Parts: sequence; C-alpha cells; structure tokens
Amino acid sequence: MTAISELVAALTPEKVLTDPDVTGSYARDRTFLEPGSPLAVVLASSRDDVVAVMAWATAHRVPVVPRGAGTGLAGGATAVEGCVVLALHRMTAIRELSPADEIAVVEPGVITADLDRAAREHGLMYAPDPSSYEISTIGGNLATNAGGLRCVKYGVTRDSALGLEVVLADGRVINTGRRTVKGVTGYDLTGLFVGSEGTLGVITAATVRLRRAPAVHPTTIAAEFGSLRDAAASVSAIIAAGCQPSLMEMLDRNTLKAIDDWRHIGLEEATRAMLIGQSDAADGPAVAARMAEICTATGATFVAVSSSPQEAEELIAVRRMAYEAKERLGTCLVEDVCVPRSALPYMIEKIEEIAVAHDVLIATVAHAGDGNLHPVFVFDRSLAEPPPNVWAAADAVFRETLRMGGTLTGEHGVGLMKRRWLALETGPVTEEIHHGIKAVFDPLGILNPGKAI
Ligand SMILES: Cc1cc2nc3c(=O)[nH]c(=O)nc-3n(C[C@H](O)[C@H](O)[C@H](O)COP(=O)(O)OP(=O)(O)OC[C@H]3O[C@@H](n4cnc5c(N)ncnc54)[C@H](O)[C@@H]3O)c2cc1C
Repeated sequence: MTAISELVAALTPEKVLTDPDVTGSYARDRTFLEPGSPLAVVLASSRDDVVAVMAWATAHRVPVVPRGAGTGLAGGATAVEGCVVLALHRMTAIRELSPADEIAVVEPGVITADLDRAAREHGLMYAPDPSSYEISTIGGNLATNAGGLRCVKYGVTRDSALGLEVVLADGRVINTGRRTVKGVTGYDLTGLFVGSEGTLGVITAATVRLRRAPAVHPTTIAAEFGSLRDAAASVSAIIAAGCQPSLMEMLDRNTLKAIDDWRHIGLEEATRAMLIGQSDAADGPAVAARMAEICTATGATFVAVSSSPQEAEELIAVRRMAYEAKERLGTCLVEDVCVPRSALPYMIEKIEEIAVAHDVLIATVAHAGDGNLHPVFVFDRSLAEPPPNVWAAADAVFRETLRMGGTLTGEHGVGLMKRRWLALETGPVTEEIHHGIKAVFDPLGILNPGKAI
C-alpha cells in the first residue's frame, strides 16, 4: 500500500485530493510567494479526520500545512514541497453559544463574521474583526492572532481566546485553557498556540469569549487632513482625551488615490490623509462630536460625522476597500509593522521618506489607534517577486520600526515573509527557546515547516 492509499483508507476518497490542477488552488495564500507542490490536499470535516492525518503524517514523516481560508498575508499557509495541505474550512459548526457564560465553542472553519452574527442574535458580539472578517476563518485568526478594526477598544484575537482543542503533530488531542472567567492552572498553552501559525498543533475547536453588543448603533467620523503628521497627531490627541474610540483607522494619500481611481469617492487634491474614527459608547454621538472637534483643532480640513447607521457604515466602507484598491495597482508586498502609538506621527512620515529614497510606491493604511501600520509596497505585476529596491525599502521600514521600540508584525504573523528579519527583533537566546518549544510539540518538524520561527 502506498502512503497516499493509506491516507485515503484512513479517511474517505472524496476527502483526499491529489489532482495537481486541484491541489494547486489550495497551495497559496494571498501573498505572491511561489508554493511547493502538495502531495495531497485533505478536506477535513471532523477532529477525527485531523487526528488521522497527523498520525499518518507522523508515520510517514510527511509535512502538513494547516489551512483556513488562505487569506493570510505572510505566507503561513503556503504549501511546502511534498506536503499535505490540511484544509479546515469545512469544519464550520458552532458547537455551543452560551449567553449565560458569554462564550461560544466553535470549529476552526467558522467564518469570523458568521460567529459575530450568531452572537448578535443573543445580544452579544465576537469582537475581533480583521478587515477580512467576511472571508477568513476563526482557526486562521487564532493561528495568526489576528487583529482588526475594533482591536483599539476590544483587543486582538488572543484576548478573546479562552481555550482550545488541539491535535498535536503525532495525532494526540489536548484541551488547553478553560471556559471560566478566571483560571491559572498550568502554563498558558492557549496563549502559546494563539499566534503559532500552525507550527505547534492543529486547532480543531476553540472556546472564545463573547461580549455584550453595544446597545446603540456606532457613530462614525471621517476627517480629511492636508498632512499625514496632523492626522497622526489627531490620533494621539483623541486617545489622550479619553475618547476610547471603538475604531481608529488612517489612510494615506496613495491609498485614497487608489480607492478614488476605482470607486470615485470625490478625493480633494489637497487631501493627504484621512482618519476614520468610531464610537460605540452609549453617548456615541457626543464622543464622535468630541473626536471631530479634536480633528479640527489638529488641522483637519473637513470632518464628516455620520447621522445614521447607514452613513456610519458607508464611511467605514471606504477603509474596507483599501486592500482591493491597492491590488489593482500591481503586485503588493503587504507589511504590518507596529510601533508605540506615540511614535505613529514619526513613523508614518519616515515611511514616506523611505518610499522616496528607494523610489518605491508605498501606500499605507494604519490601524492608527493601535500604532499598527500596513505599508503596502506596490511593484510591477510582470515580476515574480519584489525587485531589490522594494526589499531595501522594506528592510529600512523594519529597522526603523525596531529602532522606535516597535515590532515586525502587529497581526499578520511572520509566516515566510518576515523570517529573514526575525532575529533582529528576537535575538539568539529567544530564538533558541522558540526552537526548543517547537521541538517539544513537533519533534519531527512536520508541522508547517519553515514558517514563523
Ligand atoms: C483583504 C484582506 C484584509 C485583511 N485584513 C486583516 C486585518 O485587518 N487584520 C488581520 O489580522 N489580518 C488581516 N488579513 C490577513 C488574514 O485575513 C488573517 O491573517 C487571517 O487571520 C487568516 O485567516 P485564514 O482563515 O485565511 O487563514 P490562512 O491564511 O489559511 O492561514 C493563516 C495561518 O494560520 C494557520 N492555520 C490556519 N488554520 C489553522 C488551524 N485550524 N490550526 C492551526 N493553524 C492554522 C496556517 O497554517 C497559516 O500559518 C487580511 C487579509 C486580506 C486578504
């Protein structure tokens, strides 16, 4: 019996895809990285399927690349040569939703926005909302510790993860964490698996925290500025004034131009940046008015305040168009640096300087309230990978970020894309510890090899 026929026998034939024309479509995430050719793709529909795959992979020493929806921007789900891509998007059950405990127990393939919608039927919400929330999965969000627009108020995915069911590299199953409000027993393995990018185990279920949904519709403001620095300064002033925005996003001129060329939003010639803020507090309209005043005081040339839920959504829709608008300009190297919030005005200007110095088109959006910047380096579509000046510009952005006390990745993960800079941030001792932890969970090195660490 060949290894593949053993895998088919352990599952069922329709769950194991081997036609290269089909497996190729599961080999990439949203990066430009050229994947290896998978040996097979497994469409898992239960924890037992995942157990069978990992036990088989251990027996045959075959690498396994876990995959949610493949919306990752770091190369984490990129297939490695001869691997099995373990696709989890069919595991979509919400096993439990408890209003009394304010938790849900979900399978990894649940789409992020679907969980939020299910929670809202009970007056609750699932807070983490990456811009990709209509297409990404909870498993992928957990594995990358995804952020999102609401993190400025509600925290990142890890802040909502209470416990996990994980299939280890050899097929054993463990349950980490808890479903209680508090808990100290043992090391925080839940925290360890969150953000581990599929290198330590395969998440097959998660107990996540839900929160009371705001009682009122949020109020949104959109402020236009003649300078990036003014827009960034407004963010600091809004936070310092105690406004507690539930969303605080910033778009630079290049991003706005890309959106305007595509969707004609009426961009003014003098506009260099836009800030979009939101308050979901009970006195949201008053807080939004205060944020608008602060923007005007710090140099905004125009401020719109929503007067209806529909208008509030329309203002945010501009932000959600950013990624697709930039993809229309060329191939995108999407970066994800995060600096202390106070360094935001400096960093955003520095990125503009770096763009000029290296002659690269960089369009930046920022989860500004978190100091998390996404400089997107656009390059010619005919090239298979970024030309040297783009890598040099990215290198300059990373080094400046670290110099400011920041981090290489705020929410997308290291994947394959940022491994070459990792040592700059972690240093040799931490790196050694990471490899030690990996060896405990995955002694044969079959789980998503070559990623994250
Ligand atoms: C338009 C757009 C907007 C985006 N906006 C944001 C944003 O605002 N914030 C943000 O954080 N990200 C954002 N992203 C990036 C991406 O959506 C997130 O990283 C998301 O968490 C990936 O989820 P996924 O299901 O697509 O995972 P995949 O891309 O399939 O996988 C991501 C990583 O998780 C691992 N993995 C997946 N499932 C499991 C599992 N069950 N167990 C173990 N490991 C697993 C994979 O091996 C891989 O390393 C955006 C992407 C796009 C295309």
